Amino acid sequence: MYVRAAVLGLCLAASMAGLSAVRADPQKAARLRDAALADDTAWQVLESLTTEVGPRPAGSPAAARARDWGLAKLAALGFSNIHVEPFAKQAWLRDSDAGEITGPFPHKLALLGLGNSVSTPPQGITAEVVVFASLAALKAAPSSCCAGKIVLVNQPMTRTQNGDGYAGSVRARSAAPEAARRGAVAYLVRSISTGTARAPHAGAMQPWKPGERAIPAAALGVPDADLIARMAEHGPVSVHLLLQSHVSASTAWNVSGEIPGTDPKAGVIVIGGHLDSWDPGTGAIDDASGIAITIAAAKLVAATPHRRTIRLVMWGSEETGGSSAAYLAAHKSELGDIAIAGESDLGADRVYGLQLPAGAWAAPDIAPLETVLAPLKVMARPAPAEEAGSDLEDVKAAGVPVFALNQDASRYFDYHHSQDDTLAIVDPAQLRQNVAAWAATLSILADSDADFRKTKK
Ligand SMILES: [Zn+2]
Repeated sequence: MYVRAAVLGLCLAASMAGLSAVRADPQKAARLRDAALADDTAWQVLESLTTEVGPRPAGSPAAARARDWGLAKLAALGFSNIHVEPFAKQAWLRDSDAGEITGPFPHKLALLGLGNSVSTPPQGITAEVVVFASLAALKAAPSSCCAGKIVLVNQPMTRTQNGDGYAGSVRARSAAPEAARRGAVAYLVRSISTGTARAPHAGAMQPWKPGERAIPAAALGVPDADLIARMAEHGPVSVHLLLQSHVSASTAWNVSGEIPGTDPKAGVIVIGGHLDSWDPGTGAIDDASGIAITIAAAKLVAATPHRRTIRLVMWGSEETGGSSAAYLAAHKSELGDIAIAGESDLGADRVYGLQLPAGAWAAPDIAPLETVLAPLKVMARPAPAEEAGSDLEDVKAAGVPVFALNQDASRYFDYHHSQDDTLAIVDPAQLRQNVAAWAATLSILADSDADFRKTKK
């Protein structure tokens, strides 16, 4: 279902509709690449969203302001067919969090309740902590291990360039049911972080299943988790937790706008980032930068004629889920019109690789893109993208081809979901390199006549 909030824009395509077929042109892509390196549109968009809207969890009042910001920004940058696509959202929203070690000596804890956690009683919970060095160790523990205790899983995260250390450790964030089944009264997890700062990293756990005994769950700052683990080697450690949150039946929105192409039959390229964020910071790298990078790249491509329409989507509920399924539901009948799709959602540090659908690098009008990207130190990677952003998961599963511009995630998880996800950690030069890689890639993909559903030999 669509709600057309505004139909604005340059309608550039109408005046170009009569032009002869546009061909993928590496020289044009190189010009866009170089223009991007001198363009600060992405920085302006990023600065605007983080400064004027701030943190914006789905279902919060700030999410409605973010929606209005998105509509206004797309209009100001000349997009057309601007609209919002609403969907129902059960929103988990934080009220307050506090915690402290009460023995062997009092010490305030840096912590954040996990998304989908239940609240503690108003007076809080005080109990002894049982520490596990990994999720596997908790799973191996007997059912009698933890009755009446608070379970802490203190599993560190591995730093990797492609961010796949996250997959290995994030499962611990959803392990509260393992603790509950063993009689625990609350669950603590070491922040899913590669950093050493005390700032805790928020994040959602899987919703409780019917019949499960729900217990409160929170993420501890990395040094706080280590402190409790060291203390526990010497004797019993007791902790007091006070976690308050609520769930409200709400609405979330995917915001969409287009840069029309010259050939309406050539299909649409869907790109974007997600508009929602966690609440401790201002969501600069997660994911205002994804929106800023893709909107700036699309704006550059808009300046010259191109075949395929580029659709910019600001997904509205990535962090606690929902926008991927909502996007599929709203576009199910027209998935065949999406030529290819890609999301930017791993920060603002430099791009090091481009992954296309299987066989696409061999297409004659796409192969020259490798040379266009080389000065940016972006590799043409032959392996197809396993994922291209979680907001595209459902349309990808339904057969839409995807591409991925791989970002260096080496320091992303030092800040991700924490109070330090702010403009201060974005490097403007690396942000521009992202836009350059996106603009060159979009230019070639938009003008190519490759059918990405058939490039695989
Ligand atoms: Zn994200």
